Amino acid sequence: MESCNKGIFKGLSLGDDGSNLSLLQFADYALFFGEWSKSNVRHLIHILDCFHDVSGLKINLDKSRLFGIGVSLEEVANIARSVNCSYGSLPFIYLRLPIGRNNEKKMVWVSWQKIMCSIENSGLGVESIKAKNMGLMGKWKWHFLNESGALWRRVIVEVHGVNGGFDQTTGLVRNSGTWLEDGFWHAKWAWIRHPSGRASGELDHLVSLINGLVLDPHLDDKWSWSLDDSGVFSVESLSKAVQNKLFSSNDLDPPFTWNSWVPRKVNVCVWRMALNRLPTRSNLVRHRVSIPSSNCLFCGVDEESQQHCFFSCSIIKIIWRKLWSWWRSPLLYNPSLVEILKGKSGFIENKSVEKLFHAVCMTFIWHVWNWRNKILHASSDHEANAIRHEDIFPSVQRLSLLWAYNRSSKKLFSWENWIQNSGELASSLFPYFLGYWCFVLVFLYPVLYLRAHYLVLFLFAFVA
Ligand SMILES: [Zn+2]
Repeated sequence: MESCNKGIFKGLSLGDDGSNLSLLQFADYALFFGEWSKSNVRHLIHILDCFHDVSGLKINLDKSRLFGIGVSLEEVANIARSVNCSYGSLPFIYLRLPIGRNNEKKMVWVSWQKIMCSIENSGLGVESIKAKNMGLMGKWKWHFLNESGALWRRVIVEVHGVNGGFDQTTGLVRNSGTWLEDGFWHAKWAWIRHPSGRASGELDHLVSLINGLVLDPHLDDKWSWSLDDSGVFSVESLSKAVQNKLFSSNDLDPPFTWNSWVPRKVNVCVWRMALNRLPTRSNLVRHRVSIPSSNCLFCGVDEESQQHCFFSCSIIKIIWRKLWSWWRSPLLYNPSLVEILKGKSGFIENKSVEKLFHAVCMTFIWHVWNWRNKILHASSDHEANAIRHEDIFPSVQRLSLLWAYNRSSKKLFSWENWIQNSGELASSLFPYFLGYWCFVLVFLYPVLYLRAHYLVLFLFAFVA
């Protein structure tokens, strides 16, 4: 820093106010920034030599690298050789992060606004750092308000005043309102217009309600947090409220229901499909990407729009029909995309079974997209043709079983038989509920509630 001030080493000038950047340090790494000149590099090496003489810590130049921005690699190599230092070129990896990578222009498929929206608002629910930060700051304010005797609070009050320097726009401290003094209610209303007519009557009613309150003088006043039913502040509730305020969306069309019984990648794929943001061939054409053909990869006849790829294609229709018959759906069952996305099948009454069916449909959509991509990226026409003739249906059954079985907390389904008898699941869950409760009554009840000696006798009987 001193060598910069004395002009021995010239750092990077950051603006007109004279501030400059010359050194960044992290753990045992150090990055020096400076103007590109041979003399500047030499001066830096001298400064490092002086540092070695003073501290005894030697800088290993073989392990250090010189990078030049906006200068040729040849020039960087020349100067590096003159000071016996290694050199490198951009981009490079520093602390596992790519530095100086050219930002290739990538296609934006979904807006940040939509990605940051909560899952309930048909977004992806990616957490906003700003919202989280405000939530964490709110926690300090909550502690400040509630820990009146704490030493840290007294220090803050001394430094920043009675409000602790917190933003007052939240309206927690006002000079209007009502308060209790010497056992009497005092009201100081900040009227914009004095109430008259019905409002006047309502004010009288409010005053009578307040006057009817009996307060316990032995209890201290305390703050209550209105965003949580418990009345206690939580970072999560504030962060969520801020995030919803910052990233709200009225675009709920088409509605999309997340399903926790399939992995996130499946949810995201179907979510993108719901927004028509998958790179189908018709979408690529719409984004002016030049592609050899816009025809469907399954049938090769029609344009590969989203509707065609997942629903209208003759090949895909056959597999959907397999799925309907597996679930023994009504004969003319032909749900719309919206019904599938919402998870409302219409022919299943039980909510758990409906969620399971929704999970199966989502797994199917994800599978179709993967199948399509495998055909697209096949190394040869022969391989593409072979993939095109694969039957994905057994795989949809197997994967949806695996995912739903491992992710659902209630093991209510007869998993071993469900592939053969999923239609029975759709019609009623009663036998499985019955089986479940029979199991609880016959085995778990004695174990949990009967006295130990019964159990001992029970075990003894087994031994005998
Ligand atoms: Zn097709």
